[in-house]
Amino acid sequence: MFGQVIRSLLAFCLALPLAAVPASARPLDKDELDILRTEYVLANAEFTLLHEFGHAAFDVFDVPLFSREEEAADTLATVLMVLNYDVQSRPSGVDRLLMVSAEWHQEWEARGRATELKPYWDEHPLSIVRFYNINCLAMGANQDLLSLSLDTKLLPVERGWFCDREFARAKRAVEWLYSQHRRAPEVAKRRGARLPMLSMQYDKPVGPDNRHVYEILRRSRLFDRIADRLDGLMDWPVPVKVSVTNCGGSPDAFYKSQVRTIFICLDLLADFGRLADRRAAEGFAELCANPVIFRVMGRRLGCDSDSGANDSP
Ligand SMILES: [Zn+2]
Repeated sequence: MFGQVIRSLLAFCLALPLAAVPASARPLDKDELDILRTEYVLANAEFTLLHEFGHAAFDVFDVPLFSREEEAADTLATVLMVLNYDVQSRPSGVDRLLMVSAEWHQEWEARGRATELKPYWDEHPLSIVRFYNINCLAMGANQDLLSLSLDTKLLPVERGWFCDREFARAKRAVEWLYSQHRRAPEVAKRRGARLPMLSMQYDKPVGPDNRHVYEILRRSRLFDRIADRLDGLMDWPVPVKVSVTNCGGSPDAFYKSQVRTIFICLDLLADFGRLADRRAAEGFAELCANPVIFRVMGRRLGCDSDSGANDSP
């Protein structure tokens, strides 16, 4: 207990000077806001698809889990994004994960806390818990990010102190899963021009909001690239389909094991865009005051350029 107090004090003192970043941001023009909005929608779409692929992988590979499946799927998605964007050696690669955790924070501010829609017994963690879980793994992947984020609103020091270990353990779990089920190169060769086990299906979008995010998604080829990559890496024993569809206004995404299909509602992606607009309307000055956000996204958010916002690698 006493050791914990010492560690907390030490970490607080280490983090203190780093948090002293000026909290000012210039207004962004329409093009800059559009770019940010698109990045926000795609980052959250990527996390959503990887989370659902987590459910699919746990199902078809019959993966043993110690914790709730929803938390395990979040962990898998976060670690895959950390590895994909090389956050361990490139702090700027964490920008997409900051947008993902921001979404959970927005969810909490906009819906969770206000309306208590999520009961405590739900199989999903509360949005605000997901915010801290993702931050812990993402910051824990890189010592610079961890030092900068410790004792800020992204990561209270009591949690942050052990986030490097949390990340290391989660990464080992992902590597274990991959080692158990990776596609052997010789098998891939023997099968020749086999049909992909992971396939995409896009329904025609309904309504202007769904149409807009549909166009962003198709142009990016994000989902197709993720499905191709996971198909090449893992030896999926059965086909799994991803259906990007309209859900009548319900912002949802889920995996249905009976039909081995991941459903991603365009309505959910449109909702990401609405929450991005809501956040932009509040201005970015408070975000600029956070040393990690300032360093990784400062220029894009219009943080005071005189103070060194650099989006640096
Ligand atoms: Zn889930």
